[in-house]
Amino acid sequence: MSETIKGLHRSHRCTEVSNKNIGEEVTVMGWVQKRRNLGSLIFIDLRDRSGLVQIVFDENDGEIFEKAGTLRSEFVIAVRGEVRARDGAVNEDMETGDIEITAKELRILSESETPPFPVEEGANTKEELRLKYRYLDLRKQNLQNNLKLRSDVTTFVRSFMANEGFLEIETPTLCKSTPEGARDYLVPSRVHPGHFYALPQSPQLFKQLLMCSGCDRYIQIAKCYRDEDLRADRQPEFTQIDMEMSFVEAEDVMEVNERMLQALFKEVLDVDVQIPFERMPWQEAMDRFGTDKPDTRFEMELTDVTEVVKGCGFGVFAGPADTDGCSVRGLNVKGQGAMSRKKIDKLVESAKGNGAKGLAYLCINEDGTYKSTFAKFMSEEELEALVTAMKGEPGDLLLFAADTNKIVWNVLGALRLELGKELELIDESKYNFLWVVDFPQFEWSDEEERFIAMHHPFTMPKEEDIQYIESDPGKVHAEAYDIVLNGSEIGGGSVRIHQTDVQEKMLRAIGFTDEQAHEQFGFLIDAFKYGVPPHAGLAYGLDRLVMHMANEDNIREVIAFPKNKDAVCLMSEAPGTVDEKQLDELSLKTVETEE
Ligand code: ASP
Repeated sequence: MSETIKGLHRSHRCTEVSNKNIGEEVTVMGWVQKRRNLGSLIFIDLRDRSGLVQIVFDENDGEIFEKAGTLRSEFVIAVRGEVRARDGAVNEDMETGDIEITAKELRILSESETPPFPVEEGANTKEELRLKYRYLDLRKQNLQNNLKLRSDVTTFVRSFMANEGFLEIETPTLCKSTPEGARDYLVPSRVHPGHFYALPQSPQLFKQLLMCSGCDRYIQIAKCYRDEDLRADRQPEFTQIDMEMSFVEAEDVMEVNERMLQALFKEVLDVDVQIPFERMPWQEAMDRFGTDKPDTRFEMELTDVTEVVKGCGFGVFAGPADTDGCSVRGLNVKGQGAMSRKKIDKLVESAKGNGAKGLAYLCINEDGTYKSTFAKFMSEEELEALVTAMKGEPGDLLLFAADTNKIVWNVLGALRLELGKELELIDESKYNFLWVVDFPQFEWSDEEERFIAMHHPFTMPKEEDIQYIESDPGKVHAEAYDIVLNGSEIGGGSVRIHQTDVQEKMLRAIGFTDEQAHEQFGFLIDAFKYGVPPHAGLAYGLDRLVMHMANEDNIREVIAFPKNKDAVCLMSEAPGTVDEKQLDELSLKTVETEE
């Protein structure tokens, strides 16, 4: 290392000092985590980004012993001293627990006020306070590890992809607003009053144009912005590992990414991942798991019992069973037939939270009798048929949802995950990757009363379905693929449309007039006129990928300076108001709204 402060040269990071250095003189610098006074000895836990090492000051050392007595938490110090074995007092919980440094020189490089919370991993501090003082929070070992992991991931991906012939190319972040998709963040133009740039939701159009430019293989670690209501794993600004390839089909994109992920997990986590990953059609994912991002680390799959309950005496089942686009499906919660009423009520509540009108259940008692909300409405034969279809055995709990397919999938998919966690069915040590493929090209938006693109409007429909784009959009499948890890969509991409006429059809199908399409995407459609290679690509959510690799539940733990759930940076207090002069320059006026 080559850091020097006024003649004192930092020789090691704290945890780089080991029993190999016993007897040697070292110099370490960092923050005081803890001071313990034992009368004739003072112990300091010194912290830097690598971790902790113990420093000892002896009363026989006179002046520096006295100086050590003034040290407080978070003082920044430099210590020169000799490495010694800890006689009989090895701390097994500490990486450097078998050694300590006996101080010969101590310099206080800066002092600290009492920090607003203990800067220690595991300290039970409210997240609001942690985010307000994020620079202190980041000193904690787990967060330092997460930042290091994140840096390792991007470094590895860049070099792997460079070896595969990808060029790293930056695309603009002041773009044209394209309201299809999420809400844009807008930036007013000073020199063009009344005009706005948008921050990119993704570099999608630019990366496709780079393919038109002949760049062949592109990659970028790109900041993206989406003004959506935030959920636990979303941030208004986030980072993508974004890529695009020319002269390829879907399989080529998947193949290079499988190799990249396999190598990444080996290099960074020393985890072996088998490739190729399973490719699961969207329909199968929905039918078996109720979601297009299935967690395949545990079973408890959905069973479609629509045909079995058709015409049965229980109207709640018989109605949907006889209606197009609706179904009746169930989950067999093995061995949970004796679940308490209170717990079942909680499941009913969460089903309602996901859009169900209710949740029907049937407990199969150990003696083979049933306890159920609906048994009385069904004949014995009907019940038997249902239980058989569900592979129900004594001691099982059967849960049923009956509604539109969308609601049924949503409700049972969420219950499956909730129960998987609660009953500890998930093998947390596993990394289960899979591709979900054959997505529908469109989904119906009740809110907008029109079809919208399930991925985005530049996704190529399956060739045989192109004929239905305008006449029967619901029938069209897409050349799209999502990469799913342990029930989380960590990335997605598609083969792109590269024909002007198909692109125009696609935009018309989602409600654009030709004028609107040209106004917003004219430059892309024009570019297609001048020779465009077939191309395809993919983007990962870097934050989410790193969150899984770091085994964190919350995306904020892997972002240096995240925003909170209200899209606010509690530390810098962004967003803030601006003064009148700035607004005047931008020809903007704000209006008061009632909060
Ligand atoms: N641009 C897409 C997205 O942000 C990913 C892709 O199709 O490459 O979701």
